[in-house]
Amino acid sequence: MRTAIGVDLGGTNTKTAFIDESGRVIKKKVFSTPAPFDRGAWSATLKEYAEALKTSERAPCGIGIGIAGLVDPNSRRVLHAPNIQGIDGWAIGEDLEKAFGLPVKADNDVNVMALGGHFFGPNDGSKNIVCLTLGTGVGGALIINGQLYRGSGFTAGELGHITINEEGPQCSCGNHGCAEAYLGNQRIVRRFKDFLRKDGNSIVTDMAGPDGAVTPHMIYEAAKKGDAIALKVWEETAAHLATLLSGVINLVNPDKIILGGGVANAFDVMEKPLWDNIHKRALKAAVSGLRIVTSKQGEDAGVIGAAALVLKEGAA
Ligand SMILES: [Zn+2]
Repeated sequence: MRTAIGVDLGGTNTKTAFIDESGRVIKKKVFSTPAPFDRGAWSATLKEYAEALKTSERAPCGIGIGIAGLVDPNSRRVLHAPNIQGIDGWAIGEDLEKAFGLPVKADNDVNVMALGGHFFGPNDGSKNIVCLTLGTGVGGALIINGQLYRGSGFTAGELGHITINEEGPQCSCGNHGCAEAYLGNQRIVRRFKDFLRKDGNSIVTDMAGPDGAVTPHMIYEAAKKGDAIALKVWEETAAHLATLLSGVINLVNPDKIILGGGVANAFDVMEKPLWDNIHKRALKAAVSGLRIVTSKQGEDAGVIGAAALVLKEGAA
């Protein structure tokens, strides 16, 4: 069976794994991404880890890399990665090909996750898929007619920076009212604090550590226990998510929307208000037949998708 090395290069950590043709993770390793980024040190650690994962029966046929940033998949150059300081402009594909003696493909991290979900997810016949990752930031990717849609300048699918309120709060990109400014981790925590100030108490305050830090995960746990404020936080978050998705649904008419990232773990408490609001906003014909699911690949979605660049895209 063919295998490939999948690499998920993020601002904090780099994950690398051997993935087989069925999308199975054979073995993986994680190391800290150097900050500021050091091309030589990072490549050397990757090589060392890849060698350690290799055995004679699983020699890889190539390396796929997903990077948290804008990537030109043709020149395999990093165009702009705001959270990996010092990496911009690096022809990562060319350099790693020399270092490893293997073909290398590179793309944006959410694009590769979408590919992984498409090729290795449940075989349900979906051809038009929208992927949305919900975490510190909000990322997206589009599979149209079974192929990743990258756009003219490779920026397609940046769903987090679609404006959902012209008068809204400022986003990390500088614009006001982007979906990310309503759905990012920090905004969810702020929403909780705003409700708490108005309405009194929540069990989340007991869950917070001595430093008082609150996370979306705590708000989710509290909602599962029926905490009224936590439930309101997810209801309002779901309503904003529905505003974004309704526009995307009308534009793309997808078979399936896959939600990934940490906040997607709260999908069960958001599901009902999410659908209620989508039914209110999106065109009826665009919603019929639509499914919204969470990514089943969890934290391995990045490395599995990166390997799909080599094992599946263009290979089929
Ligand atoms: Zn933005």
